[in-house]
Amino acid sequence: MTEPPPPLARLRVGVIGDPVAHSLSPAMQQPALDALGIAANYVLWPTTAEGLPGRIAGLRAPDVLGANVTVPHKRAVMALLDEVNPLARRAGAVNTILRRDDRLIGENTDIAGFATALGAVCRDAEDRRALILGAGGAARAVVLALESLGVSRIAVANRTTSRLDQLIADLAPTPVARVEYDDTALRRALSDATLLINATAAGWQPGESPLPLDLLGALPVDALVVDLTYRETDLLAAARHLGLTTLDGLPMLVRQGARSLELWTGHKAPVDLMMAAAGAARDARAATH
Ligand code: NDP
Repeated sequence: MTEPPPPLARLRVGVIGDPVAHSLSPAMQQPALDALGIAANYVLWPTTAEGLPGRIAGLRAPDVLGANVTVPHKRAVMALLDEVNPLARRAGAVNTILRRDDRLIGENTDIAGFATALGAVCRDAEDRRALILGAGGAARAVVLALESLGVSRIAVANRTTSRLDQLIADLAPTPVARVEYDDTALRRALSDATLLINATAAGWQPGESPLPLDLLGALPVDALVVDLTYRETDLLAAARHLGLTTLDGLPMLVRQGARSLELWTGHKAPVDLMMAAAGAARDARAATH
């Protein structure tokens, strides 16, 4: 009697960052891989700055499908790849790595993720006047996403002016208006904005906000307020209290993950399943914190 063949080894895909324990990606990617019938495990790859070159070299192993990259490595990882998509290079951030013929390629799915999430709730994006708070990797992705949606009036405010100057220089010729990060300038910019986006890291904790919440009263009544934080924030609660429409960061998170999955596998991502799984994981985590 012949022995049955050994089971095929499962593929690996994971998220590289420091820390990664809080990541919702495994909770939405694993059920999606299972639903597509792809024998792969989505795992956490906690990685220090010193360990990053070794981690990236490890992605060349034949059983690796690809990787996500998160804080703080989205920029540093670019120098370790064979190729970086031009849009990701403009954003100055890679959040997805795939392997093609032994070459590691960097992509930025935050851009399409934000554009798709916003487009789903905002049919008139190209007519909106956007004010973005923050000038990090996420803010850059948002600027490029808004440009792809045809938004022509984009203003950015950031606490550290040198970082904002760098964003404007790096994203040229995309026109980005500069707003000072003081109450007077913010109030004036808010009164002219019909789309406010918090792309700062401020908002994860109760009592934390990227700007004084009373300034939100300056927004026009038809303004949409978006927070990239993928949970309820003081900013979103205050905006809703004023009767404004809001969107949190979960749809963006899911859409960027769905795009990554499509790049790794070539299959259409089960977005509804990923949305439900990510939402359940987020809510379960909120209940225990
Ligand atoms: P970065 O570290 O690159 O940038 C952080 C930004 O936040 C900087 O502009 C920084 O300003 C600003 N900031 C931090 N603290 C404060 C504060 N107290 N007040 C005002 N501004 C502040 O981070 P990322 O751009 O990668 O991420 C930004 C946020 O977006 C994070 O919360 C992240 O979780 C979220 N995100 C969500 C995604 C999603 O899918 N929903 C995808 C990617 C990111 P300064 O320059 O002055 O330090």
